[in-house]
Amino acid sequence: MDLTESFNCGLRQLIMCMDYSVNLCSVCGSNSSVYFDDVSGLRYCSSCFVSYVYRKVVRAVRQYKMFERGDRVVLAVSGGKDSVVLADVMGRLGRRLRWVEFVGVTIDEGIRTPAGDYRAEALNLARSVLDRYSIPHRVYTYKELFGATLPEFMRAGVYAGSACSVCGVLRRRALNIAARELGATKIATGHNKDDEAQTVLMNVLRGDLERMVRAGAAEGFGGATSSVGGFVPRVKPLKRLYEREIAMYAYLRGYGFQSVECPFSRDTVRDAVREALDILSTRISGVHDALLNFEDKLLERLGSSTAHVRACRNCGEPTSPGRELCKACEYVLKYVEKKEGDVGAGAGAP
Ligand SMILES: [Zn+2]
Ligand SMILES: [Zn+2]
Repeated sequence: MDLTESFNCGLRQLIMCMDYSVNLCSVCGSNSSVYFDDVSGLRYCSSCFVSYVYRKVVRAVRQYKMFERGDRVVLAVSGGKDSVVLADVMGRLGRRLRWVEFVGVTIDEGIRTPAGDYRAEALNLARSVLDRYSIPHRVYTYKELFGATLPEFMRAGVYAGSACSVCGVLRRRALNIAARELGATKIATGHNKDDEAQTVLMNVLRGDLERMVRAGAAEGFGGATSSVGGFVPRVKPLKRLYEREIAMYAYLRGYGFQSVECPFSRDTVRDAVREALDILSTRISGVHDALLNFEDKLLERLGSSTAHVRACRNCGEPTSPGRELCKACEYVLKYVEKKEGDVGAGAGAP
């Protein structure tokens, strides 16, 4: 196998931004720098970088008013580096904000790889960070919640596109179910600035303003999130951090990276948008922030009047306008039909 292929995303990001020069930290002026920020032109030593990241997250939490007194927050901890950093920073913040309670949740999609257990490794990474802050940990599986694992859904052909799309829909639903069961008032995910800027641009390229408004409503833009029962609002504390900053923070805080990658191929549209943004960011400074600011301003202007969310006929969870069934129900029902069809055909055969 090609060596570069075997590098996972976090390590590649980390190596890209490591400061190999012998310059001093721009903040404290005494330690040698380990990170160079090409947007601000500042160099950071390890301890100044760790505080910089922490302060940046705290600023985003305040700016978007993510937590309120008495909140019980589900931390979506998959074990990937973004989620590990989310749990670490929230764990540190939780020591100061005694009035917010955190509980870690890992969703097991049932992916088992011959090269090593993808989920077992991720579970250990998730557990290690949650233990560090004595945050309770719960695991929910697709099999228990939806009757099948992700590979089983894909083998049954519930969706012709990428497994990531199915997985995304089911994971969101699984987190909602978990949050309700745990009596949580918010769900915090580890989406970073790169993810969020890609999503904004993808919605623009698809001309899908409704999707942008719905996602904004889920994050509480435009007042009341939704009248649909059981909906738990989302917060994204890392949304103003670059993926490379998260990778560096994880490394400096001593967290390991996942070595076994998800065996399913990735979302090709998102990959194309990621590449386009990487190119644009070399010509337009701060293009990711500009996209996020644009989305914030747009959602503030549109207000809550446009945030229509309707309830799924089958499960009552929120679904897109014009859809009777939510996507999660659609996949589950297709899987059941397909299975019954297979059994029926088997029984009818001579
Ligand atoms: Zn320093
Ligand atoms: Zn449904």
